[in-house]
Amino acid sequence: MQRDFQEIIAENLARVRGRIDDAARAAGRDPNEVTLLGVTKYVEPDVAMLLFDAGLADLAESRPQQLWRKADSFGDLPVRWHMVGHMQRNKVRRSAPLISVLHSLDSPRLAVALNSIMAEESRRLPALIEVNISGDERKHGFMPDDVEPLLSDLAELPHLEIRGLMAMAALEGGPDRARHDFAALRRLRERLRRNCPPGLAMDELSMGMSGDFAEAIAEGATIVRIGTALFEGVR
Ligand SMILES: *Cc1c(COP(=O)(O)O)cnc(C)c1O
Repeated sequence: MQRDFQEIIAENLARVRGRIDDAARAAGRDPNEVTLLGVTKYVEPDVAMLLFDAGLADLAESRPQQLWRKADSFGDLPVRWHMVGHMQRNKVRRSAPLISVLHSLDSPRLAVALNSIMAEESRRLPALIEVNISGDERKHGFMPDDVEPLLSDLAELPHLEIRGLMAMAALEGGPDRARHDFAALRRLRERLRRNCPPGLAMDELSMGMSGDFAEAIAEGATIVRIGTALFEGVR
């Protein structure tokens, strides 16, 4: 069984990478500009490990407890864990040291808490500002107009390294709506870039999931976060 799963996952990974390359070329972009994250939240640690064995070292979780569990099972393996979901401040102390990139910076208080834990660790945490680009009330993230006023405060936190923006498209509305939302995030990044305080970067756009990554790449995604399409046939 495990052997079969390994083959299925390797095939899924090759297929997803092929689709990323196609989407990049169709948009006139270099496929190497797009980093694939494997979102492992649907599977147990042993199945997540098969994705790592197939050659994907950037893995993501959306819940702190799942991150702790998976990070524990992976031990010293050279995986880079990305956190893509909401993190309550009481989970920061245990989570932050495990994270390579936080994609879901969604409140000023979280930023301050992360900065002080990272100061204790003598480390800087790369982070993306989560934007509620679709305006869905159920979603986390800053409203687009609230991001610019925040940047000068973030620039005062030396243990956070802001690299760009993250968002999810609206759940409903299909590919056209998704592309519209992704274009809005790209335009917000262009606007912020012009007034970006020193020390902050606005290069990364983390956007696109299994159902909409081609649209995201067409609009400039530099990181796509994919779960379902990588674990088809093993869940
Ligand atoms: C689950 C999740 C993903 C992956 O979604 P799929 O549709 O399964 O590819 C991406 N980003 C975030 C924030 C998630 O929670």
